[in-house]
Amino acid sequence: MAKNLVLLGLPGAGKGTQADLIIRDYHLAHISTGDIFRANLANKTELGEQARKYMDAGNLVPDEITNAMVADRLSQDDTKDGFILDGYPRNTEQAKFLDEFMKENGRAISAAFFFDVSDEVLIDRMLKRGRQDDTIEVINNRLKVNKEANMPLVDYYQNEGVLHKLNGQDKLENVYAEVQNVLDALD
Ligand code: AMP
Repeated sequence: MAKNLVLLGLPGAGKGTQADLIIRDYHLAHISTGDIFRANLANKTELGEQARKYMDAGNLVPDEITNAMVADRLSQDDTKDGFILDGYPRNTEQAKFLDEFMKENGRAISAAFFFDVSDEVLIDRMLKRGRQDDTIEVINNRLKVNKEANMPLVDYYQNEGVLHKLNGQDKLENVYAEVQNVLDALD
C-alpha cells in the first residue's frame, strides 16, 4: 500500500530532518511546501512573486495559492507509491482540501506524525539554523501564526484515526525509530 504521509509540527520541530531519514530508507516523494516556495522566490517565478510578501512577514501564503501548488505536485507520477508532505497542511482548510483531493483520486492519507516540541527549543533551533528568513521577529511571528493554525490539525488527524504523536525533543534517532515502527506496520 502507498505510504501517504503528513508531517505535523511547528517550524523547527524536526519535520525536515525526519523527512530526510524517511526518504533515505523508503522510496517516497518529499514535498516541502516551504522549499517549493523558496525555490520559486529564488527563481522569481510568478508563484514566487505571489508568495513573497507573505513569506517575508512570516505569514502563511493564502490557501488558494498553496492548495493549487500541492494539487499540482501530487498529480506527478513520482508520488504514486507514496509521499511525505512536510509543512502542509498548515490549517484545517488545507487538510480538508487535501482529503477531498485524495478521495477524488482514490487515495488517502495513511499516517500523520506530530512532533511535539516546546517553544523554547523551537526558537533555539531556528536561530541556530540561521536561514535568511530566520530573524527573531520573523521567527516569533511565524511561531504564533503557525501555532493557531497548526494545533487543530492534531485533532483533525486524531479524528481521522491516523495520528501518531511523538516527543520531538527526544534524540532524533529515537524519534526516527518510532516513525519506522509506524511505517513498517502500514504494510
Ligand atoms: P516553512 O519552511 O515550512 O516554514 O515555510 C516557509 C514559508 O513558506 C512559511 O512561513 C509560509 O509563508 C510559506 N508556506 C510554507 N508552507 C505553507 C503552507 N502549507 N501554507 C501556507 N504557507 C506556507
